[in-house]
Formats: sequence, structure tokens, C-alpha cells
Amino acid sequence: ENTSNKIAAGEVVERPASVVKELIENCIDANAKNITIEVRDGGTSLIKITDDGTGIYPDDIEKAFMAHATSKIRNKDDIFAIKSLGFRGEALPSIASVSKIQIRSKCRELDSGIQLNIEGGEVIDKTETACADGTIIEVNDLFYNVPARKKFLKSTSREMSLISDIVNRIAICYPEISFKLYNGTRKVLHTYGTGNLIDVLRTIYGKTICEQLIYFEEHNDIYSVYGYIGKEEISRGSRNNQSIFVNKRYVKDRKLTVAVENAFKSFSTVNKFPFFILFVESYPELIDVNIHPTKSEIKFKDDRTAFKIIFDTVHKALRNDVM
Ligand code: ADP
Ligand code: MG
Repeated sequence: ENTSNKIAAGEVVERPASVVKELIENCIDANAKNITIEVRDGGTSLIKITDDGTGIYPDDIEKAFMAHATSKIRNKDDIFAIKSLGFRGEALPSIASVSKIQIRSKCRELDSGIQLNIEGGEVIDKTETACADGTIIEVNDLFYNVPARKKFLKSTSREMSLISDIVNRIAICYPEISFKLYNGTRKVLHTYGTGNLIDVLRTIYGKTICEQLIYFEEHNDIYSVYGYIGKEEISRGSRNNQSIFVNKRYVKDRKLTVAVENAFKSFSTVNKFPFFILFVESYPELIDVNIHPTKSEIKFKDDRTAFKIIFDTVHKALRNDVM
């Protein structure tokens, strides 16, 4: 059988960064205001996520993990087979089946919390515990029972930088939440949850870059478009500093990218790639996200209208800046 197809099929548990993404999304769903992510060895030995969200009721905690993670999951074929069931509601079972997890969780209205230890998808311990309101999940030894998947991972520094990219993007989408990311004992990101996008950008990109940013914003019946575009001084020879979020989901889209770049080119003398962060919000039914579920591709059903409002909005902001 074709190993690379299987690898491409692993949507949730592809690599440490995808685990981090799923776990953080759960914290956000639980209304957390403070989320701390601690990573060791590129996430292969430890991913620990602490939140101050709603917590999980003691009676629900096994359900959250065990939905589809059965003792049948013992090798990579079984794990990839999970994919065919779809991954909605399957992140925790999937992650639990390929790691050793300890979760501690406490609901605000209860006096004590609950701790659960799971190894390779099997509960090995459940006890009452004293802990702060919210949830702490430790994912240890990711892929310890899937050597093939482990071999497929890149260097720990590369996996760490993929984690860092994901956390940065989520932090950009949620300025009202405070995020801390540690690589070992080193703090590599700290956003403060002020609710202001520019504060998050300053943390990630630095003061100098943020001084060169121009804000743009426009709304109509169908689209909300806003973000920041960098002045010529911070444009680059590559598209590395370009991010697009559609309904808070990081996407790569050539048309939307070109809309911003074309507006930029009207004012730029040197043909470089602008720095930009673009948010587009619209009705979910106007977006076709299912071109490829594992890739960050999207398509607006009416992409000419999307293109136009993005171009016009960025163009106007740059023109106002020149004048
Ligand atoms: P989904 O998020 O699609 O429901 P998951 O497997 O990611 O599926 O999570 C399963 C369930 O576990 C969630 O629906 C939620 O009830 C609970 N859960 C997971 N993480 C947290 C968390 N950090 N805080 C509160 N509840 C959580
Ligand atoms: Mg989830």
C-alpha cells in the first residue's frame, strides 16, 4: 500500500502542530481567556495545554476521549482508517490513540476536578484531583506506538516552528485571548488578550514592522474585509509575510492574494511582495471550503465580487496614506 497516501489521509494527527491546533480550538470552544502551550522536543515528547475555560464534567470526561478510540487502534492502518469516519468530534480520541495523555479538568461550580490517564487510547487511571478551574491536557510521547508516523516527522526545530506558526495564526485571530507559548522553558510568544489586533501583531512581528503598517477596512452586505498592509519599506522578495484568514480560518488563496498585491502594485515602484494580514468574513454558505479538507484552500462562490472589494479596500487605504 502507498504510505504517502496514508500520511496525507491523517488529518487530525498528522504531526505535533495539528495536535496543538485541535487542542487550542477546544480551549477556545470552552471560552478560555488564557491559554498556555508548553512544548518539548518539537511536540514529540510533550505538548501541554492549560486553559481557564469551562472544564469538563467528571461524567463526560471519558466520553470526550473514547468516542471512537477503541482497543482496535493498535497500528497505523487502524489509525488511518479512523479518517474514513470523518474527524469531527474525533480529535481527542485520535490524539489519545497515538500518545499518552493526562488530562485534569475542573468545572467552576464543582469543588474538585477529575484526572484521567490514557495510554494508546485506553484509560489506565481516573481519580478525583484538586486543580484550578479549566483544563490541562498533557500529550506525552506522541506517535510512540506509530513508528512509521514518527519517522515521517521533520527535525524537532522544524516541528517547533510549525507549531509556532499555528499558534501565531490562532493568536492573530483571537486578540481577546491571551496566549503563551513555551519551547522548553523558553517563552516564545506572549499575547495579552487586549482585544486589539495590532497588539498581537506587535508581539509577533515587532515594533518596527508595525510602524510601517496601514489599516484597511470595508463592509458590505456580503463581505467584511479588514487587515493591515505594509508599506513598501517592509515588502519582501517572497510571500512569507502574507496571511489570509477567511472566517478566522487560515487559507491560501491565489485570487485573494493577487487582489491585495495588485492594489499594492498601483503604488509601489519596485515589484515586491507586500506584507499583509487580510481578514475576510462572509456567510459560510457563500464559501466552498471542501475543495480539499486537509489543505487550506477555499473558494468564494462569487470570487469576482470578493476580489473587487479586497482590491478596492486596500487600494483606498494606500491612496489615503499617500495623500
Ligand atoms: P469536538 O471539538 O469536535 O467536539 P474533540 O475530540 O476535539 O471534538 O473534543 C471532544 C469534546 O471534549 C469536546 O466536544 C468538549 O466537550 C470536550 N473538550 C475537549 N477539550 C476541552 C477543553 N479544553 N475544555 C472543555 N472541554 C473540552
Ligand atoms: Mg475539537
